[in-house]
Amino acid sequence: MVPTGTEVEGMNILGLVVFAIVFGIALRKLGAEGENLIKFFNSFNEATMILVSWIMWYAPLGIMFLVAGKIVEMEDVVLLFTSLGKYICCCLVGHAIHGLLVLPGIYFVFTRRNPYRFLWGIFTPLATAFGTSSSSATLPLMMKCVEEKNGVSKHISRFILPIGATVNMDGAALFQCVAAVFIAQLNNISLNFIQVITILITATASSVGAAGIPAGGVLTLAIILEAISLPTNDISLILAVDWLVDRTCTVLNVEGDAFGAGLLQVYAEKTMGETENGDLVEVKTEPVEAIKAVGIAEGSPLITRDGPARLESNSSCEKESVM
Ligand code: ASP
Repeated sequence: MVPTGTEVEGMNILGLVVFAIVFGIALRKLGAEGENLIKFFNSFNEATMILVSWIMWYAPLGIMFLVAGKIVEMEDVVLLFTSLGKYICCCLVGHAIHGLLVLPGIYFVFTRRNPYRFLWGIFTPLATAFGTSSSSATLPLMMKCVEEKNGVSKHISRFILPIGATVNMDGAALFQCVAAVFIAQLNNISLNFIQVITILITATASSVGAAGIPAGGVLTLAIILEAISLPTNDISLILAVDWLVDRTCTVLNVEGDAFGAGLLQVYAEKTMGETENGDLVEVKTEPVEAIKAVGIAEGSPLITRDGPARLESNSSCEKESVM
C-alpha cells in the first residue's frame, strides 16, 4: 500500500504553533533588535485580552442561545444531555485519578515522602482554586501555604509557582483531550490514530498557552478542534458546563505546580546536603581575598588568577581564567 497525502480544509494550527515557537526563538536570538516586535506582540495580546473581557460580559446570554440552537438541531435531546453528563463524569474522574493517584505517586517515587501530608498542607489553596476557578487568583495563597506548611523555601516557590500558574496545566490538558473526543463522538466522527496523537500534542501545547483564569482552557480548545478539523461551534456545549469542570481542572493545575515546587525543594535539600559534606564542590577563597587585598571591588569566585603579583597589572583581565 502506498500512502497518499491529501489536503485538509481549514487552518493549519500545528504549522502556526511550530512557526510561532521558532519565530519566538529567533526574536530572542536577535536580542535588543527583536525587543520592539516582542513589545508589539505583548501589547497586541493585552489589547485582545481587554476586548475578550468586554465580550465576556454578554457571554452567558450568547452561550444560552448557542446551546438552545444546538438543542433545537438535535434529533435526540436526551442523548445530548446523557453525553454531556458522561463528558462531565469522565473529566471529574480523570481529574480525581490524576490528582489523587498519579501526581502523589510521582512525588512519592522521587522523594520517598508522604504525598498526602503535602496535599493536606495545601488544602486551603486547593479549596480556593475550586472556588475561584483561577490559578492566578490562587497563586499568592499557594505560595504562602507551600512555604509555611510544606517547608518549601522562598526562592524555589517564588520561581516555580508563578511559572507553573501560567504554563503547567495538567487539568486543562486532560479536559481538552476529553472534550475533543466528546465533540468528535457527538458529530459521529471516528478518530484515527494520527488524530489521537494530534490531540495529545496540541492539548499539551494549548494548555501551556491557556491563561490561569476561569474558562481559559476552553478558549484554547479551539486550537485542538481546528487541528483535527472538528466543528469549533460545539465549544458552546463545553462552555455551558465549564463552570463545574473548570473547578476540578484548576485544582489539578495548581496541585501540579505545588508538587513541582515540593520536588525541587527535596532535590535542592539533597544537593545542598551533598555540598555540605564536601563531596561535590571545593570552594577556594584565596583568589577572592587576594582581589580584595589589592582593592578591586568586584570579583567572581569563579575567576582564578595565577598569582597576586599579576593583579597589580592594569591588564589583569586578560590573565583571568574561568574555572
Ligand atoms: N481555569 C483554569 C486555571 O485557571 C484554566 C483553564 O480553564 O483550564 O488554571
